[in-house]
Amino acid sequence: MTFALFGLSVSQGVAIGRAHLVSHAMLEVSHQQLRERDVPGELARLDAAIVTVAKEMQALREEASVPGAPSELVAFVDLHAMILDDPMLMEGARAIIDERFCNAEWALVQQLDTLVAQFEEFDDPYLRERKGDIVQVVERVLKALQGKPRRLARRKPNDDEELIVVAHDLSPADTIQFKNMKIAGFVTDLGGSTSHTAIVARSLAIPALVDMKHARPLIQDDDLLILDGTRGVLIVDPDEGILEEYRARRSERVVERNKLKRFKGERSRTLDGVDIALMANIELPQDVEQAREVGADGVGLFRTEFLFMNRDDLPDEDEQFEAYRSVVKGMPGKPVTIRTLDIGADKEARALQNTPGAVERSSINPALGLRAIRFSLAEPLIFLTQLRAILRAAHHGPVKILIPMLAHAREIHQTLALIEQAKEQLRSSRHKFHEDIEVGGMIEIPAAALALGPFLSQLDFISIGTNDLIQYTLAIDRADGAVAHLYDPLHPAVLRLVSHTIQTSTKAEIPVTVCGEMAGDPALTALLLGMGLRQFSMHPARLLEVKQQVVKADSDQLTGRVARVLKSDDPERIEDMVGKLWLA
Ligand code: PEP
Ligand code: MG
Repeated sequence: MTFALFGLSVSQGVAIGRAHLVSHAMLEVSHQQLRERDVPGELARLDAAIVTVAKEMQALREEASVPGAPSELVAFVDLHAMILDDPMLMEGARAIIDERFCNAEWALVQQLDTLVAQFEEFDDPYLRERKGDIVQVVERVLKALQGKPRRLARRKPNDDEELIVVAHDLSPADTIQFKNMKIAGFVTDLGGSTSHTAIVARSLAIPALVDMKHARPLIQDDDLLILDGTRGVLIVDPDEGILEEYRARRSERVVERNKLKRFKGERSRTLDGVDIALMANIELPQDVEQAREVGADGVGLFRTEFLFMNRDDLPDEDEQFEAYRSVVKGMPGKPVTIRTLDIGADKEARALQNTPGAVERSSINPALGLRAIRFSLAEPLIFLTQLRAILRAAHHGPVKILIPMLAHAREIHQTLALIEQAKEQLRSSRHKFHEDIEVGGMIEIPAAALALGPFLSQLDFISIGTNDLIQYTLAIDRADGAVAHLYDPLHPAVLRLVSHTIQTSTKAEIPVTVCGEMAGDPALTALLLGMGLRQFSMHPARLLEVKQQVVKADSDQLTGRVARVLKSDDPERIEDMVGKLWLA
């Protein structure tokens, strides 16, 4: 039966494909009260699910035992089989069903919570991490209880079929893995428009909807889906007529994107002859290829924290150096701005879990916690390793260092002192590096935008992170769908902070870039040009659309018009004026 669901569009376009459910099954378990006489049946249901999972594991073990398969895989399957057998988990769940007359799923999740809490108490980090394995085993049993055999993450679509990921929630670490998979789009029940999950979707140029609320429980694996990222609609099990219409729409978009390619060779210059630098934001070294394809003027933001995700160990200095150098080599002669670790808030990395920062980040307000430069200053060994790797990469091309989330003058002093220390260490170890590297700071906290003095006197450049600047100015969690409607780049306070930062930096002759999502929104290009912005950094997927706007702009004319926008406090008037900035 065809039905439609609505969500918050975070990346435009149309995808048609089969649903691929990614499960955090625990989140969907509800409590059911049973009659006493139903208890034996419920226990038998749990036993049957355990047998199903044990068979799945046996099959996996056989697959993993073929010559050439990684030996870790066998060890991993064996560990999961042991957990499945362990009375602490299953006997505990049985006892809960028996005593509290509840459904097996609920009992299992209650027992899981108890065990996870016990594991968190362990001093040994290895043992502490094993709680993740228990969670995975429980997820498998829950799936079996729900009568759906677990589909392995390795599921591959047929050649002519695309996959649309459907999840309750996805972390940035989950989403970044899509870069290596054939995913046509994704939808999640949770999420906000500038969460890093959404940002990665835009960088992949795949349509995505978040804040769907109840899509995950309503959709089955393999359901045929149409994801309309432009209108914020997901159509489940569409009929042939609707499919035809969307196939045509999808083809139109391909044609439109192809047309944009003609801007690649065009100079990024306004009608009145002002050159505008259009640079790329990247998450992984491989993204540099996309940046080159659209003729980016360099990398304006390399979010290095993605190198630290989806792994159990930290990348060492040499590994980081190779990653940074590959980006420099991929952008010959062009500036590459490497941002130091911006971990925390919605971006987590397993490998950093055993540091003091992890305790803070699991606090109630992680966006206000020990994240980004605060974390790096609290973990000087991790920070120095990264700084040395960047300094070494700078020997191979024009690299700059960018520091995230600065707010205090003393953070700038401490950071500059650590950069000097990293140079000293490289001198001692006789590594080649670049002495006069430029160091810039991100303006993404209102306090920093309002007290620019130490930034302008001590740093070589400024980069405005509008995503966080909006979050902190309006007190809106950028990853929370419940307040997503209040996240407003056109709020007068936001516009004034952005414009003040651009104008004050320009007056002080300190180069300034915007690298938040505002820079990649073609509807805001005229506004930013009128504020005096001359350097933009955005996802490569948006760059040609923005260039299309730049080449038809008259920056001089826009300056006067934007000055009038900045005087208004009326949101509707602001929106109207921004929409009409192009009109003569
Ligand atoms: C920003 O906050 O605008 C920014 C570019 O950094 P991130 O999105 O990685 O927090
Ligand atoms: Mg930020």
